[in-house]
Amino acid sequence: MILETFPVGLLQCNCTLLGDETTGEAMVIDPGDNTPQILARIASHRLTLKQIVVTHAHIDHVGGALKLKQQTGAPILLNQQDLPLLEMMDMQAGWLGVQTPEVAPPDASAEDHLVVGLENYPAQVLHTPGHTPGSICLHFAPQKLLIAGDTLFAGSIGRTDLPGGDFKTIIRSIHDRLLPLPEDTRVIPGHGSVTTIGEERESNPFLQA
Ligand SMILES: [Zn+2]
Repeated sequence: MILETFPVGLLQCNCTLLGDETTGEAMVIDPGDNTPQILARIASHRLTLKQIVVTHAHIDHVGGALKLKQQTGAPILLNQQDLPLLEMMDMQAGWLGVQTPEVAPPDASAEDHLVVGLENYPAQVLHTPGHTPGSICLHFAPQKLLIAGDTLFAGSIGRTDLPGGDFKTIIRSIHDRLLPLPEDTRVIPGHGSVTTIGEERESNPFLQA
């Protein structure tokens, strides 16, 4: 398994490239920006991009998705409850003072329990609303790996003061869907350093009873 996480764009969103060297297939999660860099990484492993998954429709996570699709033909998956945010891309660009990236509706909705990913590395979609209504995490159970988007961070949680955000909802999502995962599950958050479910269960100040 090829697994590379690297920050892209102004807000340093963690973009993840997952590849299977036996089939030559790859998926990319949260291509927020720097599409040429993402394409170069895919090419350097001689992989073919099969799928793009976006954990939520904030500009720093979705900004490069359409470009990546146009260059590779890979479909984009995003939970449909984030479509209103996708339509607010002008406003989101205004928050950051950047140019509005071109976006388009996803090819399919990343619904709760949907299985996404690669043939040999499937992941289950966990719908974890709160940071945004359509926020999702991807759980690769055999690899004990969670791609958490902006729902859970090392020592923190996603902000809930942007349109569609809700504090009680994100707390419930984390308690109901993420904390029950095995404690040695590696968590790759949408920003910042890697952590584990056990570490966050133990010491994340937002998650203590
Ligand atoms: Zn976000």
